[in-house]
Amino acid sequence: MKYPIIEIDISKIKHNTRRLVKLCSSIGLEVMGVTKVTAALPAVARAMLEAGVAKLADSRLANLKKLRESGLGAPLYLLRLPAASQAEEVVDLATGSLNSEIDTIKALSRAATKLEKNHRVILMVDLGDLREGIWADDVVRTAREIAGLPGIELEGLGTNLTCFGGVCPTPDNLGRLASLAREVETATGLKLTTVSGGNSSSLKLVQEGRIPEGVTQLRLGESIMLGRETIAREPVPGAYLDAFVITAEVIEVKDKPSVPVGEVGQDAFGNVPAFVDRGIRRRAICALGRQDAVLDGLEPLRTGVEVLGGSSDHLLLDVTEADPPVFVGDRLSFVPGYGCLLAAMTSPYVEKVIKY
Ligand SMILES: *Cc1c(COP(=O)(O)O)cnc(C)c1O
Repeated sequence: MKYPIIEIDISKIKHNTRRLVKLCSSIGLEVMGVTKVTAALPAVARAMLEAGVAKLADSRLANLKKLRESGLGAPLYLLRLPAASQAEEVVDLATGSLNSEIDTIKALSRAATKLEKNHRVILMVDLGDLREGIWADDVVRTAREIAGLPGIELEGLGTNLTCFGGVCPTPDNLGRLASLAREVETATGLKLTTVSGGNSSSLKLVQEGRIPEGVTQLRLGESIMLGRETIAREPVPGAYLDAFVITAEVIEVKDKPSVPVGEVGQDAFGNVPAFVDRGIRRRAICALGRQDAVLDGLEPLRTGVEVLGGSSDHLLLDVTEADPPVFVGDRLSFVPGYGCLLAAMTSPYVEKVIKY
């Protein structure tokens, strides 16, 4: 086998999905399974559906196309706001989409009319995280406009938190979303079926029993894949944390000083590195670099291995305390963080190995 590889354990993903679906459904929340971090790998999407998610969602049309072509019959939602120029593809591929621009929703309406289809819209509300969404004051007025558009079904309201501004979901801000949904129902006479209360960062509230009345859905990606909620990255009880494992080959092992020798300037990426003198240490290099994936958040599976950093093509490790000791030709495995997983799954240099 050629390294680096990323192993994807479908049965662990299915197990994690089941745990989260059970947790959420115990308080009446449906789970939208988010596939984007795997670039919509059909085996992962299928596992999520078999484990009970109601709907699938991805941020990209190319990924939704992949899911459609793999024959999955589930409702598919586009997570990233649609580009108005792609309205026809959106209506053609997606059951529904998350939206915040009335002109784009009008373009979706024209496309839906032309294609003789129906398109569901979840109107995104910005509750302070400053990523996508309309401000709360504009919700009722915008909803009224959407309600009159042919081919468009206003399915509900949604919000996204803890993505740009790091704002945490609370009973207060999610409660505001639920009460806005009720205001929209009164103003439009429509029944909204969905109040989408955020991503994996809302799980802590679920566990604490603090999700407010009226929220009906969470959109979960990272917590299914990596088994953690995303406020403090605490493990979801009973979930696997190693459904994805990256493995690379060791190409050098040597004893060297822990501080560079000579005058220190910028490193390969423009940073001036700082080092702590720990004397002579045993170091290893793996053939895994930033061209393959993002190296942040790698958690070594071999005891005593420490990640020092990396460059375009090399991952540098301190293996002085490694147990068993590390030799050239060994394969070392790591659990990736979210950024690393995202990069590895889309990298042409990392072989994807699916385990069932
Ligand atoms: C990525 C994304 C999600 C899923 O987030 P996780 O933290 O992976 O659970 C949910 N909603 C939107 C709009 C997204 O872009």
